[in-house]
Formats: sequence, C-alpha cells, structure tokens
Amino acid sequence: MAQFTQPISRDEFHVGIVCALPSEADAVMLLFDQFWDEDGDPFGRSSGDNNSYTTGRLGKYNVVLLTLPDMGTNSAASATANLRSSYGSLRLVFLVGICGGVPKIAGDDVFLGDVVVSKAIVQYDFGRQFPGHYEVKDTLEDSLGRANKEIRGMLAALQTERMREMVQNKSAVYLKQLQSADAKAAAKKRRRSKYRYPGITEDKLYLPRYVHRHLKQCGICSEFDSTCDLAAKTSCTDLGCDDNMLVQRDIFEDDGDFSPNIFIGRIGSSNTVMKSGKIRDYNATKFDLIAFEMEGAGAWDEVPCLVVKGVCDYADSHKNNLWQNFAAATAASVMKAILDRYIVTDAVQRPAAAQVNGGNGQGGGNSTRSISGNTFGDNVRIVQGDMTWNGN
Ligand SMILES: [Zn+2]
Ligand SMILES: [Zn+2]
Repeated sequence: MAQFTQPISRDEFHVGIVCALPSEADAVMLLFDQFWDEDGDPFGRSSGDNNSYTTGRLGKYNVVLLTLPDMGTNSAASATANLRSSYGSLRLVFLVGICGGVPKIAGDDVFLGDVVVSKAIVQYDFGRQFPGHYEVKDTLEDSLGRANKEIRGMLAALQTERMREMVQNKSAVYLKQLQSADAKAAAKKRRRSKYRYPGITEDKLYLPRYVHRHLKQCGICSEFDSTCDLAAKTSCTDLGCDDNMLVQRDIFEDDGDFSPNIFIGRIGSSNTVMKSGKIRDYNATKFDLIAFEMEGAGAWDEVPCLVVKGVCDYADSHKNNLWQNFAAATAASVMKAILDRYIVTDAVQRPAAAQVNGGNGQGGGNSTRSISGNTFGDNVRIVQGDMTWNGN
C-alpha cells in the first residue's frame, strides 16, 4: 500500500474544497483518509487571510478544505480569494454541498440526493430588474468565462456513459463509507446519525404552480407564489399541502440503498434563494440551467472550480431541510469519486510524467501556457495535459 507523508508546505496542495455550510464540510471530512492538522495547523496562512482550513488527504491528494463564513456569492468571492493567496499551487477547487434542483433534466427525472456537476456557472441575478422583467447583463459563459481547459477535459470525460457509470458506482461505495463512519461517531456521542437516506416517500415534487402556503387566510400567503415566513418554516404535512398536487413520476424501487445519479450542466448562481416552482422553471428554460445555488459565481471569480452539489430540494416553495444532510453526503461522495479519476502531475518536478500524460489528445506534453485573469493567477504555468483522467 502506498505510503503518504505529510506535506511540508502549502505548495504541496493542488486540490481545494470549498463548502458553504458546516454540515457540508462535515460530510466531506467523513471521507478524509487522513488529517494533517490533528496536532495544530502546521501550514499557516498568508497575511491578511482570516480563513480557517482543514488539511488532510483524500485518496492520493493532499486537500485543503475551507468552510465559508457566510452563504452567498460575495462571501464566497472574498474567502476563495484568500484561499488562492494562501494556497497558490491549487489546480482544482471543488465547491461541494447542496443545491436546489430542476426536477427534470433532458427528459430524466431528478430525485433528491442526485448530484449535479457544473459545466458552467450562470450568475443569473447579475443584471437589472426592469418593470415586469429582468435582464441578465451578459449571457452565461460570457459573464463568468468558460471553465479552463483542464476542467473542460474532465467534464468531457465525465460525460461519457462509461466514466459516469464508474464515478457513480464508486460514489455509492463512498456514500456507504461516509454513512457508516457517521453512524459510528453518532453512537459514540449518543446522537442520531445525520446522513441517512430519508426514503423515497419523503421525496415530494409538487406541480410548479402549486404554492406551499397557509390554506386559511393569514394576510400574506396567496396562491400567487407568496408564502409567509411561518408557512415557509412549516412542513408540507403540517401545512396540509395536497398530495393530489404531486407530480406523478416513475418511482424506482426503494430498498434503502440509494445511489446518486450524476447530472452535468449549467448551474445558476445567485445571492437569493430560489423558492418558486414557476420562477425556477422560467429561469431553467431561459438560461438552460439544471440547478440553483448561491456560491458558485463568487468562487468562480477567484478560482476555476467544479461545482458538485447534491439536490436537497426542488427550488420551490415546498423546500425544507429534511434532505440537506443526505444531499451533502451524496455530493461529498461524488466529489471523492471524481477526484479518484483525476491525475495531477507536477510539470516542474516531474516533466517525464507530464510528457506521458500529455498524449491524451490535448496537444502533447511540450506545449505550455500561462493561465491568467480568472484563474489561479498570472504566474501559474500549466502544461497542457498535465491534468488528465485515469480512464481505467
Ligand atoms: Zn401564511
Ligand atoms: Zn408544501
């Protein structure tokens, strides 16, 4: 078995993980193979960086995990800027956690706990509200830039049936590991385990026009998409949401053994929570989105990242917290399975390895280029093809 030694400096970290919520970070940490900071923080931070990091190993990679101080794109932008300044050798950053999902993607039903991976991030609130309509300033890839070539290469691989199936199978294994690690920890602390599958009967998708609201007059709730704060905090069952308004879907057999499907596409990012079935569908169609979240656009400004998020609700007014932990667990599991398939070689120290990997259709090992602007800084040189996929 390979021996892994603790890195001696921050430069030895090539993979970063950003989570918006502590429960998302907890799920990721349950999959760490080793921690490097059990006896205090050996790596420190650059001056001006107030983030706190968890460092360790996931598979063969040293990883640094950052939990954001607040939700939203702005918090994500400043914290990831600091991450980049402290960890200047990062080549791939995952944004891992939960999101609201679009219920049907390319004809396939999405279920809670499935995982979306970003092909591009669309900041759809980056524009102007006009009376009656809202104009996004630029379109999509224009406003945030495309993923860099390395990430695009990974995404292309992940879009093949074979690779996606391998990643899905592996993520199911990781999900089990995560759940059993949590169950053990929970038993020790005499708490309930957090990351269990809530069950298919709890996966309720209502028709887009059917609003989660008080049925009796409360002064705020109405059938026109307004829900008062109290109703928003009340479950569908307690509020009496009508099961006749559920979307009829082909429900798979629930043997308690859920393995997440992976969907790849454009993810909408905004500073406000999406909680309307009608507005969700409008934006999903208009911008070709598969999910909604709140940190991607901010993080993307600083580092090219791959958003890997578990669907914890359908971005409508019926959204509740029930699936958040489980969706965080499926996202963490898929992230680790993707990372397993990823090869980073150090072009500076090991040119031979870079040559070998350079031959995977990305133009050979001898072409280098500077990455600037929207990426890891002006001084990073990356050999094309030095990040590639292990397709075996
Ligand atoms: Zn109400
Ligand atoms: Zn409801």
